[in-house]
Parts: sequence; C-alpha cells; structure tokens
Amino acid sequence: MNVPEPKKNFSLKAYNTFGIDQSAEKFISVNNIDRLRETLAKYAAESLFVLGGGSNLLLTQDVAGLTLHIGLKGKEIIDTDYAEDCVLVKAMAGEVWHDFVLWTLEKGLGGLENLSLIPGSVGAAPIQNIGAYGVELKDSFVRCEAVEIKTGKARAFSKADCEFDYRHSVFKTTLKNEYILTAVYFSLTKQNHLLKTGYGTIRDELVQRGIENPTPSDISKAVISIRQQKLPDPKEIGNSGSFFKNPLIEKTLFLSLQDKYPEMPFYEAGDLMKIPAAWLIEQAGFKGKRFGDAGVHTKQALVLVNYGNAKGQDILALSSKIQLTIFDKFGIRLTPEVNIYP
Ligand code: FAD
Ligand code: NAP
Repeated sequence: MNVPEPKKNFSLKAYNTFGIDQSAEKFISVNNIDRLRETLAKYAAESLFVLGGGSNLLLTQDVAGLTLHIGLKGKEIIDTDYAEDCVLVKAMAGEVWHDFVLWTLEKGLGGLENLSLIPGSVGAAPIQNIGAYGVELKDSFVRCEAVEIKTGKARAFSKADCEFDYRHSVFKTTLKNEYILTAVYFSLTKQNHLLKTGYGTIRDELVQRGIENPTPSDISKAVISIRQQKLPDPKEIGNSGSFFKNPLIEKTLFLSLQDKYPEMPFYEAGDLMKIPAAWLIEQAGFKGKRFGDAGVHTKQALVLVNYGNAKGQDILALSSKIQLTIFDKFGIRLTPEVNIYP
C-alpha cells in the first residue's frame, strides 16, 4: 500500500473558513481514488472525518481519529450533445467550486452562474445542495460518484437517489458518514434562455450595469459583486456563511406573526412560508453585536463571525443564545446549516 504517513496533531486553522484553531489527531490529503480506498482500508478501525474546503464547518474540539482531506482534482466535458442544447460536464470532488464555475463560464456554459463565489469544494456541494440567488445545485445536477467508506466500493447516485431538498440531501441523514463523494456530473446549457435573473438583487444589479440581455458571465459578475458587498471574506473575517437555515414555518404561525409584525418579509415555499432568518436575528437585536471575538456580522445577520481568536465553543454559545431568543420572541426554531463537529 502507498498510504502516506499522516500528519499528527495537525492544526486545521487554515482548513476551516471560521479560522478555528483545533487540530486533527491524524491528517491525510488524498488526490487519487486508489489512494483514497487504500487509506480507508488502512484506517478502517479509526473514526473518520471527511474534509473539503472547511467552509460549512464549526469545529468545537480537536478532531479524533483520521481527518481525510479530499484533494481529487480534474474537470472535463464528457458529452457535448448530452441533451437538447446541453453539455455533460464532470468535476472531481476536490476541485474548488468557484474555480469550476468560472471554468464552465469560460466554456460558454450556463447553469451554475448564480452559484458563483460560493466557497468550498465540488464534492461537498451536493451534501447540502448548495443554493443561492434562486438556483440550487440540484437544478443542473445529473449524478455523482462516491466510494463507500466501509467497503471502498464505488457507487453512482442519481438525482433521485440524492433526495435533494432545501439545503439538504440524503448525505445529511440516512447516508451521513457512509460515502465519500468523488465526482459530480452536471448538465449545462449552451443557450442563454434558461437564465434565472428573477432574484431581486440580481435584477437590480443588471439594471445598474445597463444589461438587458445577460449572458451567464454577466450574471456571474453581478452575483460576485453583490456577494463581495454584503458577505465577509473568510480570508479577512472568519465565517462559514449562513449559520442557520432560513426557517420554513406553517401558515398558521405565519399569520399570527404577520399580525404582530406586518413588515416581516416572507416567501411562499409550497405549503410553508420561508422567513429570512437574517430578519429574525436583526429584529432580536443581534446584528453587528460582538461577544469577545465571536459576533454577528454587521451587514448580514445570518453570518456568525470569528474576529480573531474565538473558539468554536464561543461561536456555538452565541448560536445557542440566538436560537433561544428567536424561539422566545417568534416561536420559531432556527436550525444550524453549518456542520458542527462533533
Ligand atoms: P466542508 O465544510 O469541508 O464540509 C461540509 C460537509 O460535507 C462536512 O460534513 C464534510 O464531512 C462533508 N464533505 C465534504 N466533502 C465531502 C465529500 N467529498 N464527500 C462526502 N462528504 C463531504 N452555501 C450555500 O449553499 N450557498 C451559499 O451561497 C453559500 N455561501 C457561503 C458564503 C461564505 C462566505 C461561506 C464561508 C460559506 C458559504 N456557503 C454557502 C457554505 C459552504 O460554502 C458550502 O456549504 C460548501 O458546499 C461547503 O463546501 P466545503 O468543501 O467547504 O465543505
Ligand atoms: P437576501 O437577498 O438578503 O435575502 C434574504 C433571504 O430571503 C435569502 O436567504 C433568501 O432565501 C430569501 N429570498 C430573497 N429573495 C427571494 C426570492 N426572490 N425568492 C425566494 N427567496 C428569496 O439574501 P443574502 O443573504 O444576500 O443571500 C443571497 C443568496 O445567497 C441567498 O440565496 C442565500 O441563500 C445565499 N447565501 C447563502 C449562504 C450560505 O452560507 N448558505 C451565504 C450567503 C449567501 P434563500 O436563502 O432560500 O435563497
């Protein structure tokens, strides 16, 4: 076997965008599938923690056992006539998501532009069915390939197998910690007619730029600009994006809240109503608040931040305080979107 020696007590500070200084007991980065299988076999008796870009992660203690960083690289066009006007594209799990999006745009392919500038890896993107500005990964997802952790066997998952939902997939519930995703396939369009520009801020940004008939690249540039104005860059302020999911609430609760808070924003989501968690957190007075080095971002209240030396426990304590306050005030339970270790 060619399994490299693991790094021991390896700091993960540079491997999580919160910038939390916890260590991995053992750390290995794998960049090919055979090595991945061999490593899984060799460390079968140890607890395993799979790490991509660490941008949806809060470490609250050191990671026991083996931390396996997925560094599988490669992206290619598999079929230029996959479906009407569509191209089939494959990206390996360790590719940086945003670099992959830019590569598809350079090839003139549309579908992922609204998902520009989301940090992290291609392999983690299906785990929470990443979404932004009215588009979700599932909209262009075709299938993914994975390796079963227990057996090392390869398996393909269709879109239906993945059970995608709002910031959700089967890999967060029944198949949690069972598979490592190794590659993802997307169907992307050669035409511009499927572009999604309906999301308010994108529309406004395109109008401001004087663009009437946008290309996927125009939308990507608009999204990048909006995100850069509103979201903290993890290189400057540690964060993991939205800490909580936007809650989906029953219509009865919605109507009673609307009576009390007529200005409350909402979006219909099937039988339920989606309330922006950022609005709830702002109403509860947390926006811009700082507790030591843990805080709530000044421009986007859904983003919890590490101003320097916050511990994972500090961020977790702040998130619990927010959850309790929101429940007391609105009767709504906020659930974390971020993966909290352990
Ligand atoms: P990690 O944090 O490394 O891992 C996340 C989870 O997936 C962990 O449970 C890990 O064990 C598992 N995992 C990672 N790789 C694999 C693999 N190959 N196989 C199996 N399991 C794996 N998310 C959105 O949906 N929309 C946004 O607009 C958005 N904006 C963000 C903005 C900022 C500034 C930040 C910091 C985060 C944002 N996020 C957003 C969250 C995050 O970027 C995404 O969830 C991203 O897909 C996480 O990728 P990652 O590689 O960093 O995953
Ligand atoms: P925003 O535009 O201020 O809107 C606040 C929330 O309202 C969003 O989270 C969004 O829910 C919802 N919303 C707004 N317009 C909507 C519409 N036309 N239809 C349905 N829902 C609508 O949000 P923002 O914070 O600047 O973020 C912009 C986008 O990037 C959002 O899609 C957001 O999810 C995504 N984002 C995600 C993360 C993350 O870590 N997950 C971090 C930053 C940004 P949805 O979230 O369901 O879209």
